[in-house]
Amino acid sequence: MHRKHVYGPVPSRRFGLSLGVDVVPSKVCTLDCIYCQVGPTSKLSVTRELFFPPEEIAHDILQAIQQGPVPNIITFAGSGEPTLYSGLGDIVRLLRTKTSIPLLLITNGTLLHRPDVAADAMLFDRVAPSLDAADSHTFATINQPHPDLNLKEIIHGLHSFAAAFKGELDLELFFLQGVNDSPESVAALVQAVDYIAPSRVDLNTAVRPSPQRCVQRTSPEFFASLLGRFSVPANSVLPPLPSSDQSDAPHSPTKQSPLPTSGNPDRNVASSYRPGDKGPQCATPLSPEATGHNASAAHDDQSAQTRILLTLERRPCTAQDLALALGLPLRNVETSLASLLSHDRIASEVRQNQTYFFGNHDDDQPE
Ligand code: SF4
Repeated sequence: MHRKHVYGPVPSRRFGLSLGVDVVPSKVCTLDCIYCQVGPTSKLSVTRELFFPPEEIAHDILQAIQQGPVPNIITFAGSGEPTLYSGLGDIVRLLRTKTSIPLLLITNGTLLHRPDVAADAMLFDRVAPSLDAADSHTFATINQPHPDLNLKEIIHGLHSFAAAFKGELDLELFFLQGVNDSPESVAALVQAVDYIAPSRVDLNTAVRPSPQRCVQRTSPEFFASLLGRFSVPANSVLPPLPSSDQSDAPHSPTKQSPLPTSGNPDRNVASSYRPGDKGPQCATPLSPEATGHNASAAHDDQSAQTRILLTLERRPCTAQDLALALGLPLRNVETSLASLLSHDRIASEVRQNQTYFFGNHDDDQPE
């Protein structure tokens, strides 16, 4: 079943089992972040558009819920900046009459200062904006913004939204080594977080593969040094330091969020990382020949491959992520991955002892 606007549900450590919703074409965004796992921005825009009929998107969402697995949360994110979709509020209003599953908006926060965007975002149960820089130079370097965007206006917009929003506002700070981890950049971000006053901050870095292979993730030590500096609860996507290394870590366990962490579908995150995880069973995927699949299974294989491709186009996943998200046996997922790899439809990369698979952005084969 091809559903154009939804993917998953995928497991997210921050939000549980999350049904992802795409409301903008790939890739329309207000930013062109150097680490974006979707790839370069093809349309840099600050103009809201009705890219698709709200009814069409709501239909895809409700159909996915009906077919299961039932997600813990419905997450609007995907292949661009969702607040650029002018039908956002209409979809939420449609969904509210049909389901009580919480709605989450993941946004880069660049348009929240606009009244129409803020009004739509207010309709969600949770909003997770991001902020990678609080000084203009770093903002230009890491986010490559649309020229009409103004960083002070963005930060002020986040502050105003946080003050008015009744739900939970989780601000994500995304760090790259050598880009926004200098003492000056960090101090500016800490000051901005104090001013914005979100419910909490999530510290994130480039754990999943990115088309921009030059980006370098920051270390657990760097995050440990940051955790105690915020006036709101702070949480890291990276595993805690070994106990012998934690004596100087300033963060308090009371600052840890009760929620699992990570998993921003539109950014380069470590959603499947769990401390103590072993590498995936499919580090060396089985060849299609070795699996002995016969012709009667061809249709199922094709369907599984299509669903896997649709998911990997949005975010890198491990085989186990895919098996859980798509409700497929791990062995079937491994077989599909092997076939897709052999046809260059996808690529793989090992990060933190886990093999991530991601869409091959040079792939021009029709689906
Ligand atoms: S990471 Fe998110 S905000 Fe940045 S370019 Fe990609 S889609 Fe846009």
